[in-house]
Amino acid sequence: MAQQDDVFKKIVSHAKEYGFVFQSSEIYDGLSAVYDYGQNGVELKNNIKRYWWEAMTLLHENIVGIDSAIFMHPTIWKASGHVDAFNDPLIDNRDSKKRYRADVLIEEQLAKYDDKIAKEVAKARKRFGESFDEAMFLQTNGRVAEIVAKRDALHERFAAAMNDNNLDELRQIILDEEIVCPISGTRNWTEVRQFNLMFKTEMGSTADGAMTVYLRPETAQGIFVNYLNVQKTGRMRLPFGIAQIGKAFRNEIVARQFIFRMREFEQMEMQFFVQPGREMEYFAYWKEQRLRWHKALGLGDEKYRYHDHDKLAHYANAATDIEFQMPFGFKEVEGIHSRTNFDLSQHEKYSGKKIQYFDPERNESYTPYVIETSIGVDRMFLSVLCSSYEEQKLEGGDTRVVLHLPEALAPVKCAVMPLVKKDGLPEKAREIVNDLKFDFATHYDEKDSIGKRYRRQDAIGTPFCITVDHQTLEDGTVTLRERDSMQQTRVAIADLHRLIHDRVSLNSLLRKLA
Ligand code: ATP
Repeated sequence: MAQQDDVFKKIVSHAKEYGFVFQSSEIYDGLSAVYDYGQNGVELKNNIKRYWWEAMTLLHENIVGIDSAIFMHPTIWKASGHVDAFNDPLIDNRDSKKRYRADVLIEEQLAKYDDKIAKEVAKARKRFGESFDEAMFLQTNGRVAEIVAKRDALHERFAAAMNDNNLDELRQIILDEEIVCPISGTRNWTEVRQFNLMFKTEMGSTADGAMTVYLRPETAQGIFVNYLNVQKTGRMRLPFGIAQIGKAFRNEIVARQFIFRMREFEQMEMQFFVQPGREMEYFAYWKEQRLRWHKALGLGDEKYRYHDHDKLAHYANAATDIEFQMPFGFKEVEGIHSRTNFDLSQHEKYSGKKIQYFDPERNESYTPYVIETSIGVDRMFLSVLCSSYEEQKLEGGDTRVVLHLPEALAPVKCAVMPLVKKDGLPEKAREIVNDLKFDFATHYDEKDSIGKRYRRQDAIGTPFCITVDHQTLEDGTVTLRERDSMQQTRVAIADLHRLIHDRVSLNSLLRKLA
């Protein structure tokens, strides 16, 4: 665990050192859980957004995009249930004065049991080798069976307390499990209270009686309130989807772990409107589709798992998370929710407008059901960054830090370098840049030794380095060096475009999904 913490710390400082992510307002000592993306970060982030946007809107004839405003009529949040129910249970430790989410403390306790079980299983597998039967072991090994029973009992009690919104029971679980504050090490806990996560602000001058408005805690409501606009103007027929990428804001109680939990973040959400009764079919479809989108990046299939929700949100009848193995454990990156017709019905009720679909096949009007896929751009960014980072030992005792970013997502696709700063090599290198830059993010670099320049590009995940030397002037060939294998091949300048394009275009990634 300590080792993983170390790796995570290194990733965070690497992200800063190489212009990916900066603490917001850093010269004023920062603003908690708010971050800025630097020159490389913004490119990586934009590429992630493009991959998502194009996978949604280009590959599905029946999905269109919108861009709705962050400010919305405050009644929207009343109708959606966020004013009354968008709460997290918080608890304070009286000694450290630190605040925690009660549900997260209990989830961490569950993860501890899971870790213990996994360790015992790994030990036994080593001992028994080929003949090891995991299911049998879990049932028959007394010590492990006891941990499994404790874990299951806790899980059941926790799910019941969350579903009943039973705050006293949540506190009691924390006491019974003897969970201590990681800072003070004590069990001196306050009561559990509900805390609404929405930020409020005022619109209009106070003299005229300003209106309280909220910063949206999700982008989804902007889609629901535009359902009729899009359906009518786009002549959309069910099933169809509306996609949107945009900022969301939550006053998170505990905001740690870098960009994993932020107070201002970005979501990519898609609401898929379907005939009532067909929602489970599409829920299964989107679960599978979304996992394929993740896996196509090649970060490692074993790093993903589904996690079904124990507590369903007030609007949902089924929900699953796609979790990714971060250095601090498996964590939610995306949620797939079956939201029933809750949101559209509520907006119909609160707005007094008829929000329905006339189905020519069934010859009737009804409120569509909705399957939503909701992914955080920043969490996606973090999962890409963490799984790409490697400190590599090289032959001869050298080391390098390399980001094995999926090539289509890399902020810079190729760097062109003259071997020396004379003899017409810089001019030739510039010529190549001026040709490639129309299609690829291309860097020109002539400072320091060639080895140092390669390391700099490795550290930001540039898939290709192109070196121009004296031979280039004679025969029009350059050295093409690949980031991951560090292999160098001699290629004709005329072939560069094709060679690079085949590997770094989003197109190649999207084709894996088709
Ligand atoms: P969590 O349980 O971690 O608080 P959630 O279940 O509340 O997340 P959703 O409401 O389902 O999250 O939001 C959809 C997605 O938005 C999440 O899967 C996540 O990627 C992203 N997200 C939610 N809250 C944050 C946040 N505070 N910072 C960054 N990303 C977030």
